[in-house]
Amino acid sequence: MELHAVADVPEIRPGDDLAGLVAERFDLESGDVLTIASTVVSKAEGRAADLADFPASPRAREIAGRLEELTGEEKDPRFAQAVLEESTEVLMEAPFLLTESRFGHVSVNAGIDRSNVPDHDLLLLPKNPTASAERIRAGLPTDVPVIVTDTCGRPFRHGQRGVALGWAGMPASRDWRGERDRDGRELGVTVQSIVDELAAAANLVTGEGADGTPAVVVRGWEFGDLEGSNELFREVETDFVRQALRGWSYEP
Ligand code: GDP
Ligand code: MN
Ligand code: MN
Repeated sequence: MELHAVADVPEIRPGDDLAGLVAERFDLESGDVLTIASTVVSKAEGRAADLADFPASPRAREIAGRLEELTGEEKDPRFAQAVLEESTEVLMEAPFLLTESRFGHVSVNAGIDRSNVPDHDLLLLPKNPTASAERIRAGLPTDVPVIVTDTCGRPFRHGQRGVALGWAGMPASRDWRGERDRDGRELGVTVQSIVDELAAAANLVTGEGADGTPAVVVRGWEFGDLEGSNELFREVETDFVRQALRGWSYEP
């Protein structure tokens, strides 16, 4: 398996054709997987925004005020407002904002970035990353799966890593249930989140700063006709950690 950064990708502007930009710079082959950082998908989709676009509601002021007290850092209530508007549920208000996005992804600050956004204050995540992945895939000269990624923290672990926000052309997961281990025991629970694993691998090449390599081609890894599933984001009904959070509040 190989990972190739697509070289010489320019600064992405609203309306840019990401599929075309990649195809001009890299000869995709059948069996490749293209990963692309949500940052540039957002830029192409015009998702850069300014704090002034988000006049703060009383709730946003309250959240920002509490965060300011807790952290001793200045918090702009308009940023809290942007997070609220991008979210369908607030899971934690303090000591940081953890929310579910409109497309089901749970992340800190609704995944809104304040880095790698020239001329604007904020970069919102793509509205529907799976639709973005489908559009990019449809624009490529070779039919390969596309994964839209973001860098994201994980509960229980330090550090951040690449995760999949949206995907097209392959299932999200490989379902191992019903297959057997080396001793012949049937696997009962293992559903391997392939799109997250490919996103994490690609993120090693993408980098997080000024690298300028938002698109990575994974070569030599094919999903083939394995058993798969398209579930990635848990439903609340079976997400017991999330249910536990609903009854929790931060006490310093
Ligand atoms: P995120 O993980 O999707 O939030 O994106 P990052 O901010 O971590 O950036 C991922 C990669 O894309 C890094 O290598 C950045 O330098 C690069 N990047 C961000 N914006 C652009 C752009 O407009 N053009 C190019 N060529 N690279 C970019
Ligand atoms: Mn990001
Ligand atoms: Mn990143």
